[in-house]
Parts: sequence; C-alpha cells; structure tokens
Amino acid sequence: MHMNARSSHKLRVAVVGGGISGLSAAYRLRREADVTLFEANSYVGGHTNTVDIEVEGTPIAVDTGFLVYNERTYPKLIALFEELHVETVGSDMSFSVSLPELNLEWAGTSLNTVFAQRKTCSDPGF
Ligand SMILES: Cc1cc2nc3c(=O)[nH]c(=O)nc-3n(C[C@H](O)[C@H](O)[C@H](O)COP(=O)(O)OP(=O)(O)OC[C@H]3O[C@@H](n4cnc5c(N)ncnc54)[C@H](O)[C@@H]3O)c2cc1C
Repeated sequence: MHMNARSSHKLRVAVVGGGISGLSAAYRLRREADVTLFEANSYVGGHTNTVDIEVEGTPIAVDTGFLVYNERTYPKLIALFEELHVETVGSDMSFSVSLPELNLEWAGTSLNTVFAQRKTCSDPGF
C-alpha cells in the first residue's frame, strides 16, 4: 500500500547498501520515513574506507577508496560535510611511484618528473 507524506503513518523505507549513496539517502529520509539500512559488510562506508597497516614498524592509515573532491562538482557532498561538521584538508592529488626492485621512478607532476630517469626517454616500453 502506498502512503504519502501526509499520511498519519510514516513510510517504511529499506535502503540497501551503506556506502555514501545509501548513508546519505537514509540520512536525508530520516524525518519523513522509518528507514532501515541493510549493509552486507561489517562496516559502513562502502568504498569509502580507511585501513590501518604497518610499514617497517610505522603505522599508516591508508584510504582505500574515496580521497578527494573538488568545490565545483560536489556541492551536495560539501553541504553534507558542513552539516555534519566533517573536516577536510587541501590536497594536490599528486601521484608518484618508486619501485626499487625494478629501479623505476615515476611522478606525474611534470615531464621532468615523468622522465626523471633519463634512460626512459628512449624506452618505448616505459
Ligand atoms: C580506489 C578508489 C578510489 C576512489 N577515489 C575517489 C575519489 O578520490 N573521489 C571520488 O569522488 N570518488 C572516488 N572513488 C569512487 C567513490 O569511492 C565511489 O563512487 C563511492 O564511494 C560509491 O559510493 P556508493 O555508496 O554508491 O557505493 P559503495 O561505496 O560501493 O557502497 C555500496 C555498499 O552497498 C553494500 N551492498 C552491496 N550489495 C548489497 C546487498 N545486496 N545487501 C547489503 N549491502 C549491499 C556494499 O557492501 C557497500 O558497502 C574511488 C573509488 C575507488 C575504488
């Protein structure tokens, strides 16, 4: 049976998945509906997750999914962050690789860093 928002009974809504989509949908519906969130994992967040690992005795928190947003195309996420007082920090979204076992260095900052090892200029495989 369909009930609209003016009905004396609240709608019952099932949200499947506790990633950012499901969590934000459940949060937005919390006043108008009785929301039940179903999540298959043992944690919420979905792809947005941070895993604690240890590298040579140093603990490092690694974000395995969502890392960055921009101010132009994420207005609703930014509004949600502000509403929930979620702090963010600036990022330059850089990417680099250092593979000692392959003697390989790569950084996407500029052509100078892409070809930091000059021998790679003449290597089609690289
Ligand atoms: C490595 C990586 C890096 C990324 N970096 C960025 C980034 O920097 N910026 C950015 O904007 N985006 C990034 N993304 C994309 C972003 O993480 C995803 O777009 C976003 O998290 C998707 O959210 P979602 O809620 O739609 O899905 P998900 O996060 O996938 O959540 C879906 C949830 O549903 C659950 N589920 C599925 N089926 C069922 C079921 N039958 N019953 C119960 N639960 C179920 C899953 O367990 C999961 O928790 C990245 C993604 C990856 C993988």
